[in-house]
Amino acid sequence: MPAFWSEPDWDEHERVEVVHDRASGLTAIIALHSTHLGPAAGGTRFWHYEDPADAMRDALRLSRGMSYKNAMAGLPMGGGKAVVLLDKNGKKTEAMLHAFGAAVEALDGRYVTAEDVGATEADMVTIATRTQHVCGLPAEEGDAGGDPGPFTAMGIYHGIKAAVAHKMGKDSMQGVRVAVQGCGSVGGGVARLLAKDGARLTLSDIDDKRAETMAHELGGKAVAADQVMGVECDVFSPNALGAILDDEGIARLDCAIVAGGANNQLARPEHGQQLHDRGILYAPDYVINAGGIINVSYEYLCRREGTPCDINEVRKRIAQIPARLAEIWNESDSTGRPSNEVADAMAQRLIGRA
Ligand code: NAD
Repeated sequence: MPAFWSEPDWDEHERVEVVHDRASGLTAIIALHSTHLGPAAGGTRFWHYEDPADAMRDALRLSRGMSYKNAMAGLPMGGGKAVVLLDKNGKKTEAMLHAFGAAVEALDGRYVTAEDVGATEADMVTIATRTQHVCGLPAEEGDAGGDPGPFTAMGIYHGIKAAVAHKMGKDSMQGVRVAVQGCGSVGGGVARLLAKDGARLTLSDIDDKRAETMAHELGGKAVAADQVMGVECDVFSPNALGAILDDEGIARLDCAIVAGGANNQLARPEHGQQLHDRGILYAPDYVINAGGIINVSYEYLCRREGTPCDINEVRKRIAQIPARLAEIWNESDSTGRPSNEVADAMAQRLIGRA
């Protein structure tokens, strides 16, 4: 039996395509975890893997994650993900993008691709010359689509406010202490929105200058990147790396809430239990960070159906993220199960795999 069938993330994938195009040199994996709710949607990662088995592992893990994320966002989309295996120089050519687009098109709408690590909006435009099943294309002012970062930030902002209401009984962010890890597209957007509401911000980035500039602009303070997880605060908002919530990271936390946009924050599922045991309210990452996929999925569906693509509709849908989080936290409170487990079980029910 091939090794990937025993991978924990194999999890009954509906289909996994391994694509090789000799002329362009493209090698890619397209993993479709579930199309139960609609076409499997998820970005394409362009990466050099020392071992191709890691590429398969990444594709399966990320694809399954997209099934959960899309289902919990209430989207009529399933979950999938693609990885393009680059050489050690990271060479990515137009011919490879064309061949990849053709491979997506051959799936006849079962998979819809978008940007992920290593991809640019321009790559999506090139891929779109070979397939209609792409989202995250440049958008006109007032339309859905384009850079997902600001929409992801908007969802996290709503989610943090919901967490503060649930855990601290506060309906305002005035004076709430938030420590933000990562001041990039998502973390920077979250910080700006929170600053407008009077939150007291502590900002950090491995690029010290970036954190300091933003702290100056927003009236917060900057701390070194290796200090932020130990900062005394109400909310710790991770918006940089995954797997930061491990034994050591959780032991350092001095907060009531963890709510941020980074993907795969828990090093292992049992770290959700550790947060729960410490009385820290955790917003499951794939629920709170769905704003970007809500935006680009809506763009895709409007284009497919030939309907107008009003950005206000996207905003309305993103504003529903807190209701899903509240559902998770209420179930967690009443059953005593950690929020990550409750969220996974809900997502599995939604995709027909209870
Ligand atoms: P980005 O590259 O714009 O920003 C990341 C920032 O984190 C950079 O400023 C980087 O210098 C900083 N950083 C890296 N390592 C750090 C560390 N150890 N400590 C502090 N700062 C560090 O990326 P982004 O689009 O803002 O994405 C941030 C996270 O959110 C990623 O985990 C990404 O997978 C996730 N995410 C992003 C989106 C989106 O729409 N962009 C959607 C869902 C999830």
